[in-house]
Amino acid sequence: MTQFTGACLCGGVRLVASGEPEGVAACHCASCRRHSGAPCTVFADYRADRVAISGEAFTRYASSPGVWRGFCGVCGSTMSYQGANLPGMIHLHIGVFDDPGRFRPQAHEHEEMRLPWIHVSIAD
Ligand SMILES: [Zn+2]
Ligand SMILES: [Zn+2]
Repeated sequence: MTQFTGACLCGGVRLVASGEPEGVAACHCASCRRHSGAPCTVFADYRADRVAISGEAFTRYASSPGVWRGFCGVCGSTMSYQGANLPGMIHLHIGVFDDPGRFRPQAHEHEEMRLPWIHVSIAD
């Protein structure tokens, strides 16, 4: 099975995701924007049992009820999103992966909040 490796900026949190993600989507919501500091985010959606984390654990912040955002407690890298409405799933910011170009968004979420100059291609 294909494996995708990744890490935070300082290398303290490392992860290996096994297999292709269930989906890849760009999110334009204001919460993702604040958490990441980026104009939009792109997530690879994995079943949590397909993701092995080593080194440091995520530090988690409950950004709203039932929503946890994971980051490195040392370097602050934005790494994950988990929601109680999607149990058993972890959504990984593709920027943590060593080869993020392998993850192509197939959908947009919260496009009503998209910044006017952001154009994310979902086509080949
Ligand atoms: Zn780190
Ligand atoms: Zn979002």
